[in-house]
Amino acid sequence: MEKGRTRVDLFEYQARDLFAKHGVPVLAGEVIDTPEAAREATERLGGKSVVKAQVKVGGRGKAGGVKLAATPDEAVARATDILGMDIKGHTVHKVMIAETAPEIAEEYYVSYLLDRTNRTFLAMASVAGGMDIEEVAATTPEKLAKVPVDANDGVSIEKAREIVAQAKFPAEVAEQVAEVMVTLWKTFIAEDALLVEVNPLAKVADGRVIALDGKVSLDANADFRQPEHEALEDKDSANPLEAAAKAKGLNYVKLDGQVGIIGNGAGLVMSTLDVVAYAGEKHDGVKPANFLDIGGGASAEVMADGLEIILGDPDVKSVFVNVFGGITACDEVAKGIVQALELLKSKGEDVNKPLVVRLDGNNAELGRKILSDANHPLVQRVDTMDGAADKAAELAAAK
Ligand code: GDP
Ligand code: MN
Repeated sequence: MEKGRTRVDLFEYQARDLFAKHGVPVLAGEVIDTPEAAREATERLGGKSVVKAQVKVGGRGKAGGVKLAATPDEAVARATDILGMDIKGHTVHKVMIAETAPEIAEEYYVSYLLDRTNRTFLAMASVAGGMDIEEVAATTPEKLAKVPVDANDGVSIEKAREIVAQAKFPAEVAEQVAEVMVTLWKTFIAEDALLVEVNPLAKVADGRVIALDGKVSLDANADFRQPEHEALEDKDSANPLEAAAKAKGLNYVKLDGQVGIIGNGAGLVMSTLDVVAYAGEKHDGVKPANFLDIGGGASAEVMADGLEIILGDPDVKSVFVNVFGGITACDEVAKGIVQALELLKSKGEDVNKPLVVRLDGNNAELGRKILSDANHPLVQRVDTMDGAADKAAELAAAK
């Protein structure tokens, strides 16, 4: 889990999986990220489905992010519409193809949350659920029952019946909803959640009560006892630099130091991280800011992409470009660096961080000459790895 984050919001499909694990009634579904995959997923569900945008924001239904598909072809068409859609600033990268509910008769709302101000847990429930629950809560708060839950007692079936009674659920669904409240509480506690919410909890034509949409926020402080939660994290959107690097096809991992690192070959980059961390001990404890391997065939363009990501990291104070010429010789890499800086400048980027470049291996002499001739004010050449790491750390510390 990334440092400093206290809660992790899940996608609907992840919430659905946790609900299923703890016995909250849900419908079958699977998550996909290409329109074509909607066809087979819909076929597996018997030929029709609901196509649902997976974004961590409410109001998808009203924004056109939830559509019924009566055939596999229609599912492909709806997935095509929805993938890439912008919902309140969130781009849709994944959709869930879910089993269609039998006709919905009523939509309810239920949730548990940690009520920090009152230092207690709170159950909330309403028979007026669905897409307008926020309005209900704001304009007719009496329709939203709020029942404190004691952490030691938890939610037994008796307690659940009390919540259901306060929210005035109709008699024919009361016991089913109470059972949902018990399994939902299990989810809340077992997963160390800060919020579990079902909206709508639908009463469908055959009389069943089913969770049709779910929201879960996990407590990141409980990570040490929830090893399975790491896989639920959306690392792409957690770190915009990593997302941008991924979009450019770069092998980049953000770290929390100040010296940007670019190298060719995973092994070289790993040892560069070590050498920079060691050098940093003498320079205010500066550390590597990232892992970035631009691979064997590092063209000027790849170098520019890499530099762009690294220079876009506000934590970066200096950059260490460490290249061992192999298939791509050092003169090519040197040209790449010079062109990359020009390219960034022509794109209007404010390149103002010092670069320390170490070139070794195939055609190193020629590469060094190209850098010397270019005489770029921000670029310094240091020909040993230790020396270059020390220089980069020193420059980062001086900033
Ligand atoms: P939200 O708008 O982001 O909260 O998305 P929901 O998943 O809650 O879906 C919005 C609305 O779409 C729900 O309130 C339902 O009325 C409807 N809906 C969701 N799933 C189904 C389904 O399986 N079948 C049908 N007929 N309607 C659904
Ligand atoms: Mn909903």
